[in-house]
Amino acid sequence: MAPNTTLMTKVTPILTDTHGRTHNYLRISLSEKCNLRCTYCMPHDGIELTPSEDLMTADEIISIARVFVENGVDKIRLTGGEPLVRKDFSYILEELSKLGVRFSITTNALLTHRFIDDFKRFGLQDINVSLDSLNAEKFKFITRRDQYKKAFENINQLIAEGFHVKVNAVLMKGFNEDEIVDFIKLTKDRDLNVRFIEFMPFDGNEWNKNKLVSQAEILNRVNDHFGIEALQPLVNEKNFTARNFKIKGFKGSFGIISSVTNPFCDSCNRIRLTANGRLKNCLFSNAETDLLTPFRAGENLEQLIDKALNKKEAVRAGMTDFDQLTNPDLHNNNRSMIAIGG
Ligand code: SAM
Ligand code: SF4
Repeated sequence: MAPNTTLMTKVTPILTDTHGRTHNYLRISLSEKCNLRCTYCMPHDGIELTPSEDLMTADEIISIARVFVENGVDKIRLTGGEPLVRKDFSYILEELSKLGVRFSITTNALLTHRFIDDFKRFGLQDINVSLDSLNAEKFKFITRRDQYKKAFENINQLIAEGFHVKVNAVLMKGFNEDEIVDFIKLTKDRDLNVRFIEFMPFDGNEWNKNKLVSQAEILNRVNDHFGIEALQPLVNEKNFTARNFKIKGFKGSFGIISSVTNPFCDSCNRIRLTANGRLKNCLFSNAETDLLTPFRAGENLEQLIDKALNKKEAVRAGMTDFDQLTNPDLHNNNRSMIAIGG
């Protein structure tokens, strides 16, 4: 399942910021649309969609991605909205596979059964799936759609087909923290990494710091249920975002991603390209750099990318103090996650 390697990359300084971090990981949002409506991601009244002529075409996505790859990006994640709702998804995957980088996808899994052959053919192995509850009613409540069965069936299919699957669950107090142990039990017989993600503040998602579930609370629940001696910390990956653990004897593992309370800014290597071709240097920042308009005008993108990266703040878009996050003026004019691409 190895992708073709046809592009020579050079490591240039444009992807290194003023804090010495090199950004080799690009996340591309393929769509602002989604077949679910998760309350923490999609505002209640939906979002104003970008007119289709202002969204990147498949060829524009590949050409802009190529500029990043030529300058040192070696890992690309496709996300959204829901990336698989895009009609030309298979074409994008095929063209992307020619760039010779590692690539992966984040999806809600509702449509993965249609793409198993394409994933295999074009070398996509790493699949992150969002699933916030193992209870069909709660799933329906949080996603505003009655699709739990399909999502769970497809996750099992992906594992059975041999893909590297991670399940992302956004923890929200009073909603799903009582399912932490059940999620970890999924890893008993499955080669699966479950990751608990902290609820992050975005436009219209009614974020509140009291809804956060801390790492300590998660580990307390784990220890209470499995016993402290069963919990095994694992070695962190390079540029890690998740602190990983395993329950002794279990096939899979679980991780905790504390982007809000304990951000991984020091080792951040990520940049984001929205579906309308805007570069975001940080998930928490509302600053964006339009790459699509200059690309269409035939301008060179490298200087723009360099400038955008040099504006990247050391920590959480300059919100060094946790309490700054509770100030709505600082985060409420950041787009919703659905429009950024998580
Ligand atoms: N539709 C795909 C999916 O759900 O996996 C891809 C896009 S989604 C925006 C990408 C990731 O962002 C998902 O794992 C989702 O749980 C996460 N996400 C969205 N809103 C979030 C929030 N407010 N806090 C934390 N994670 C969030
Ligand atoms: Fe859609 Fe993913 Fe956002 Fe849920 S988290 S609304 S599945 S984009």
